[in-house]
Amino acid sequence: MLDIKRLRADFPILGEQVRGLPLIYFDNAATTQKPQVVIDAQSEYYRHSNANVHRASHYLSSRATEAFEQARENVARFIGAASPREIIWTRGATEAINLVAHSYGRSQLRSGDLILVSTLEHHANVVPWQLLAQQIGARLEAIPLLDDGSLDQTAYLQLLQQGPRLVALTHASNALGTLNPVTEMTRAAQAAGARVLIDGAQSTPHLCIDVQALGCDFFVFSGHKVFGPTGIGALWARESLLETMPPWQAGGEMIEHVSFKGTRFAGLPFKFEAGTPNIAGVIGLDAAIGYLQQFDRSALESHEKQLLARALQLCSDIPGFRSVGNAAQRVSLMSFCIDGMHQQDLGLLLDQQGIAVRAGHHCAMPLMQRLGLAGTLRASFAFYNTLAEVEHFAAVLKQIVLEHQAPARSYSSPSEPNPQSALQPSQGALATEPDIGTKALLQRLDACRDWQARYREIMLLGKDLPALHIAQRNDSNRLHGCESHVWLTVDYREGKLWLQMDSDARVIRGLIALLLALFNGKSPQQILDFDLQGLFERLKLMQHLSPSRGNGLKAIVDAIYQHARSRQDSDSRS
Ligand SMILES: *Cc1c(COP(=O)(O)O)cnc(C)c1O
Repeated sequence: MLDIKRLRADFPILGEQVRGLPLIYFDNAATTQKPQVVIDAQSEYYRHSNANVHRASHYLSSRATEAFEQARENVARFIGAASPREIIWTRGATEAINLVAHSYGRSQLRSGDLILVSTLEHHANVVPWQLLAQQIGARLEAIPLLDDGSLDQTAYLQLLQQGPRLVALTHASNALGTLNPVTEMTRAAQAAGARVLIDGAQSTPHLCIDVQALGCDFFVFSGHKVFGPTGIGALWARESLLETMPPWQAGGEMIEHVSFKGTRFAGLPFKFEAGTPNIAGVIGLDAAIGYLQQFDRSALESHEKQLLARALQLCSDIPGFRSVGNAAQRVSLMSFCIDGMHQQDLGLLLDQQGIAVRAGHHCAMPLMQRLGLAGTLRASFAFYNTLAEVEHFAAVLKQIVLEHQAPARSYSSPSEPNPQSALQPSQGALATEPDIGTKALLQRLDACRDWQARYREIMLLGKDLPALHIAQRNDSNRLHGCESHVWLTVDYREGKLWLQMDSDARVIRGLIALLLALFNGKSPQQILDFDLQGLFERLKLMQHLSPSRGNGLKAIVDAIYQHARSRQDSDSRS
């Protein structure tokens, strides 16, 4: 029997609180948490063994080298490689794919060749091939998706008839969880004359991997997604294939002999490892896979399956809940939408309850385009998550959705005014006195008990913001740098800026309403003089925005400033 409670104690961060609430971490597909043994292995290495590797004229260096090469053997065994010479250290899955694109792609593929990826790919398994295709004049095509989130195998077989040279395919989708039948797909591709790269970034944390049984030509994964450190990952390929590939990055470590007449390269695996490697990362990754291997992996997997099944079952009761991607075979990850709610708003509200999920396109924009979605919410589970966490998450989500659907009144926050006014402008901060309406609004925000209540107030503001006419919600009015859609139009009349803005996300609509209240009908000088930063700090808005939301707000403010500045410039010129 798995004792999840005991095993959770191995992960110190899982005992942390977020804003006074126990952390519920459901963003494991973005990165996993680290057990103490990984944290210790890295600091022990720096404490006792730090030295550069493969330059063993002293004790520490030979100790470091030994641990470093032992890790390579362990990783080889972990994924079923025939020899440690087949394991190339990289910064992660992304760098491993780039290595293959540069080294194998540029030396073996030609103009007119076909490269196949799938609609499910992470950008890391699309963009390197796109760049390669542009550089050498190859073609890139995507295996289409069926509505249930699985790949269209009939269409795949048809594409194979065009004789692709390379098929680059994810084992499990980071956005929908779909597990692709990679063994069969690999066999079919190879029969059609293609080499096959499998992106194992999302499968390695959940399944036992045996690259020889998969039969692929290349396999890549990232350490930080299998409970190891960031900045380390690996590429696997058979020795005979790696031997035919030229080096891609050049420098120390990858050479055997260098003179100005020419250079002889080192053998495998060092030929592909230029420069000082991430030694601590390798040692941490070794500790992570050692940690994983003490468990019966199939028991971990069935626990994860239970988490997913429970989440789907409980959430299906929530009004408007729609699971996105329902392939029969998948890893423990739930991608979903709530009708009528923006995923960014939901992500923020869940975050306020200490629940970490991911909202957005999940680095799979072509997939979102195919699904006709701007993004989804993703709750991705690891074996250290519990049924109790899933139940709490579902209950909180339900409450958020019901509250959203209730009349606006439920958002108001009766509370005592704060004598230590967060909204009192600091000396000289307001070159422009806000008008009466804006003052009242700022006072209302000020009266909020805490920042959660303030956010609710801001969401309410968004409800009252007039919608921008559909014709103006066009590409030329769209701001970039925001994960949600934001449109801005600017009029300049009698020395004053008149802004209209809209967004598809409610929190952003609220923030926009606040900005409009402050800036509309003001002169460029008044806008530029206003201490917005100071106001946001006093409102404690920035520190509670997610990074993507914070960047979005910055992009909006920057766009307004840019308009104000260019008006000021043209006025001073005329
Ligand atoms: C995370 C991820 C990658 C990229 O991994 P990095 O660690 O960022 O290099 C590639 N593919 C998939 C499927 C992923 O989930």
